[in-house]
Amino acid sequence: MIRTRLAPSPTGYFHIGTLRTALYCYLLAKKNKGKFFLRLEDTDQKRSIDGALENILNTLDWAGINPDEGVMYKNGVVSEAGEMGPYTQSKRIPIYHKYIKQLLDKGNAYHCFCSPERLAKMREEQIKNKRPPMYDRKCLHLSEDEVRKAIESGEPYVIRQKIPRDTVLEFEDLIRGKVKFDCSILDDQVLVKSDGFPTYHLAHVVDDHLMKTNPVIRGEEWLPSTPKHILLFNAFGFKVPEYAHLPLLLNKDKSKLSKRQGDVAVEDYIKKGYLRDAIINFVVFLGWNPGTEQEIFNIEELIDEFSLDRVHKGGAVFDIDKLNWFNGSYIRKLSIEEFVSRIKPYLLDAGFPLDDYPDGYMLKASKTVQERVKYFAEVPDLMWFYFNTPKEYDGSLILNERMKVTIDIAKKALEESVKLLYGINDFSEENLKEVLVNLVKDIGLKNGQVFWPMRAALTGEKFSPGVFEVISVLGKEESIKRLKKCLEII
Ligand code: GLU
Repeated sequence: MIRTRLAPSPTGYFHIGTLRTALYCYLLAKKNKGKFFLRLEDTDQKRSIDGALENILNTLDWAGINPDEGVMYKNGVVSEAGEMGPYTQSKRIPIYHKYIKQLLDKGNAYHCFCSPERLAKMREEQIKNKRPPMYDRKCLHLSEDEVRKAIESGEPYVIRQKIPRDTVLEFEDLIRGKVKFDCSILDDQVLVKSDGFPTYHLAHVVDDHLMKTNPVIRGEEWLPSTPKHILLFNAFGFKVPEYAHLPLLLNKDKSKLSKRQGDVAVEDYIKKGYLRDAIINFVVFLGWNPGTEQEIFNIEELIDEFSLDRVHKGGAVFDIDKLNWFNGSYIRKLSIEEFVSRIKPYLLDAGFPLDDYPDGYMLKASKTVQERVKYFAEVPDLMWFYFNTPKEYDGSLILNERMKVTIDIAKKALEESVKLLYGINDFSEENLKEVLVNLVKDIGLKNGQVFWPMRAALTGEKFSPGVFEVISVLGKEESIKRLKKCLEII
C-alpha cells in the first residue's frame, strides 16, 4: 500500500517547493490507489506562526490536493481524520518519550547536559582548528548514577543519538539511486530538545513508522540526514521506508531558489491571478517529465502518467517565463465570459469604474487582450486605456523612425482618419479594417504610417491590441475625441 504524506511545519508561507512535494505525493498515492495524508510538524514552537496551518490547508484546497487522512478541514474547522493519529506532532509528545526511552535503554541515545556556552566554545575551537564542528561526546561517558543525579537536581538536558561512527551505510534512493554514507563524519544529533520536544529526526522516524509511510517523499535538503534516520530505524528495529529525495529548486542562474529573485510563496502566484491548472502543470514539471512531447496535462492525465522513476536528480530550474507560458495557454482556453469574470476583480481593485460601462463594452474590450495576458494582475496595465483617456503623449510614442512616421506624417494620418471616422457608422472591426486600409492607399502612405500614430494616440501605449480592435471597442465618439486631442498636443 502506497502511503505518502506532506509534513509541513507551520512556520511561514507555503513554498512552491512544498506544493511540488504535495503534488508528487498526491499523484503517486492516487495512481496506486493508496493514501495521501497531512501531518503537521509543529515541534518547533518558537518558529510556529499563527494562521500558517490554515494557510497550508487553504493552499492545498485551492490546488485540489486534499489529503485523504490527517489534518484537514471538517465543516470549515481544522480537525483530524484517520486511524493513525494524532497527526499533529505537538499532540504526540508522550509517544516520542516512550520511543526515546527504548533508545536510551539500548544505548543508542544518551543524555547531554552541556550548556549552550560550552557547546559554542567547543564549536569555535573546532572551527579554529579546521575540524568539522561536532559534539565531543563529553556526556557519553557519564555514569548512570551521574546522569540520574543531574536529572534529579533539575539540570537541563537534551538527548542525543549515539552514532556508530565505524559504520558505512548504503541505501537505494528512488530518485538518486545508490547512496553511500560514511558515518564517521556524522554528529551525535539531538533527538529530544531541552523543552522535551523531539527534533525532526526522531519525530520523522517514529511517525513515518507508526503512520506506515512508504515512500517518504521529501526535499533533497534532507538527504544528508538520511543516514541518521536509517540508523534510528535500525536501532528501533523498524523497517526502513523507501526514500525519494526531490531535486532542489533553482533560480535561473542555478542558485538555490530564493525570495530575492522572485516570488516563492504559492499565495503570491494566487494573488497575481495565476490559474490553478497552470500552476499545477508547471509545478509537476519542476523535476519530472513524461518522456514525451506532451506539455499540457490535466490532473487525471497526471495521475495516469506520473511516476517517481521519471523524476530527475539534477536541480530543477524555476523559470517564470515557462510558468507564464503555461498560464497564458490556460487563459486562452477560458470562455470569454469566464475570462471577464476572472479579470473583473483586478480591474475594480485598480479603481476602474466598470459600472459606468455596459456589459458588452467589457466583453469586447476583454476579448482584445485575452490573447496577450500572462496573468490576471497585469490586466489593469493592459486595459487601462479602455477606461481612461491617455493624458500626455510622449513624442517618441507617436513618431516612429523605423516605420517612417514623422511629425508631418503623424498629423496627416490623424487628421485624415478623424475625417473618415466622422463619416462612417459601422464600427465593426471588419469594416474599420476595410475603410482604413483604403484610406492608407488614398493618401499615399504605408499601413504603419497611419496605423501606428492612430493606435498610439488612442491608447497612449507602445504595445496594445491593434488599431481596428481598439477603435471598435472605444466607438466613434471616444475614438474621434482622442485622435483630435492628440492632434492638439503634438
Ligand atoms: N517538516 C519538514 C519540513 O517542513 C518536513 C520534511 C519532510 O517532508 O520529511 O521541511
